[in-house]
Amino acid sequence: MEVMIFGARGSHCVSGQEFVKYGGLTTCVAIKTKKFWIVFDAGMGLVEAGKRIVADPDNITDIFIFLSHLHNDHIEGINFFPPLYMGNFNIHISGFGESSQVLLERISTTFSPPYFPLALGELKSQLETTVIGEDEVIVFDDDEGSWVLRNVFRDPFAKGHFSVSNWYHPSHPRDGVLLFKLNYGGKVVIFATDVELYGAGQDRRVERLCQDADVVIMDATYTDEQYFNPDYVVQGYGHSFHSAVIGLAERCNVKHLRFHHHDPTATDDHLDQVDAKLKALHPEWGVAKGNEIIEI
Ligand SMILES: [Zn+2]
Ligand SMILES: [Zn+2]
Repeated sequence: MEVMIFGARGSHCVSGQEFVKYGGLTTCVAIKTKKFWIVFDAGMGLVEAGKRIVADPDNITDIFIFLSHLHNDHIEGINFFPPLYMGNFNIHISGFGESSQVLLERISTTFSPPYFPLALGELKSQLETTVIGEDEVIVFDDDEGSWVLRNVFRDPFAKGHFSVSNWYHPSHPRDGVLLFKLNYGGKVVIFATDVELYGAGQDRRVERLCQDADVVIMDATYTDEQYFNPDYVVQGYGHSFHSAVIGLAERCNVKHLRFHHHDPTATDDHLDQVDAKLKALHPEWGVAKGNEIIEI
């Protein structure tokens, strides 16, 4: 399996010579299975993911986009997602909402003239929304290309070939955030952005999620110096700091850790230093790059 990172930046896109290596596009991660594209977050990296999806020779037309939350840096790529304009893709969006209809209405607002020239109904591809409860999981049949929403308490996973579930974390203002777990062929990928680890990283709930995971892509927006700077307070902004994420990854035996949601001020030189520190701790750990593929 390949975990493809198309955007690793937080808050807003950046450009310039000092941001070439780690990229300036906001967050998006994609995984291709036999019959599906699984995408986490729809920041501006989604546009690049869309180009990759359209060009893919396997012609997979079912795309699931899981939104951690609806802050702009996590949805701003939707409007320019190439498959939406192709007509031959089925696009499913899952995320926050009191109901699937409410989520659809919220996404529709980004396609509202005069802010955007097209309305959602004018797009060529089909777009549907599905809200997953914490006690539910989407189980995908990767042979038949079908999927079903199951209750984790009542229905065994065994029928499915892989699954995606979400965990709510209340730390991110104002409505919290969804953390995602992909379980595919015995491998576990965690996408946990915009989360501020409680207990200086000893967040038991997130630890349970990340325990023995193959890939953990986790918010590590702030250096320890930034997080504990009394002159520029960022505590409570819903983002984690470096040593908290490292501590969690060590306790959880994470194989491939990636720091994610880079602060817009984080230059390539700075992130190179962070990456070197991570690799000194564990050769498979590092800082997420906007054009990176993690093979597991
Ligand atoms: Zn964000
Ligand atoms: Zn956010």
